[in-house]
Amino acid sequence: MAPPLTADEFLAALRGEGLVVVEVGNWRAHHRNHKGPWGPVHGVMIHHTVTKGSAATVDICRRGYASLPGPLCHGVITKDGRVHLVGYGRANHAGSGDDDVLRAVIGEQALPVDDEANTDGNRHFYGFECENLGDGKDPWPGAQLEAIEKVGAAVCRAHGWNERSVIGHLEWQPGKIDPRGFTMGEMRARIAKRLARKPGVVAGAGTYTVRKGDTLWAIARSHGTTVPLLVDLNGLRDPNNIAVGQTLRLPAGEAPAAAKTPAAGTITYTVRKGDTLWSIAAHKLGNGSRYAEIKSLNKLTSDVVTVGQKLKLPKK
Ligand SMILES: [Zn+2]
Repeated sequence: MAPPLTADEFLAALRGEGLVVVEVGNWRAHHRNHKGPWGPVHGVMIHHTVTKGSAATVDICRRGYASLPGPLCHGVITKDGRVHLVGYGRANHAGSGDDDVLRAVIGEQALPVDDEANTDGNRHFYGFECENLGDGKDPWPGAQLEAIEKVGAAVCRAHGWNERSVIGHLEWQPGKIDPRGFTMGEMRARIAKRLARKPGVVAGAGTYTVRKGDTLWAIARSHGTTVPLLVDLNGLRDPNNIAVGQTLRLPAGEAPAAAKTPAAGTITYTVRKGDTLWSIAAHKLGNGSRYAEIKSLNKLTSDVVTVGQKLKLPKK
């Protein structure tokens, strides 16, 4: 059981996992909280949209339909692997599902069959809609599957959950078939692997002394790590209770970009499996938001990169 992340924490968690996030309209304030409760949250739910075309898909998920007003999820994962945030708070995505499934998600145990629709899922799940026709033929590009893996890992990491907190709509509500085209078992295995890596944890950890006004979240974010990791590393009993002057151990991040990058000119980087412009900027330039520099330097017209592609990277 956990209170929902704030919108800023949610955004930072996604970006921290290396996702390219697009903020759509006033997503932070677009929700259905006037229709019912939002939280405590227990997991992440994955859907497919049965729509075609990224722009139309994002728009439908934001606005919804006359009979089902939006937002229809929090994030829309388009085929290019980008995550479009369309709402935050209670959203019309999960509907009623099985209380036995909710108990299993809370306990992070194997899921029972969903044969009841007696529990409000919109209250308890983060929702991600994925652009796919759901006909079993429409392909799921690698970048999109990777983004699903990353959103699952990002939210789990932020809450200290494991991969069993990520389920498909088909595992929640009787009669639902989404997502179709990959199995949630496969996806959970990928998320577990990603979570086990705990990116950023390598030898040579530093320390940080808590200053007035600091929160553990802000410290985690400014050091490219997460609250659960800092809690683990420092044996904290209460993440909300840190004292000014307290010394915290930090996981060592990537070496500073300055130490790796030549002093002048550009370097060439070959895109590897799993890379996004954001992750390349984060790893090679020390800041994911510098992806725009890579984009303009290489005159890219989209954010999509392909394995083997050679990119010029700016000097630090
Ligand atoms: Zn669904």
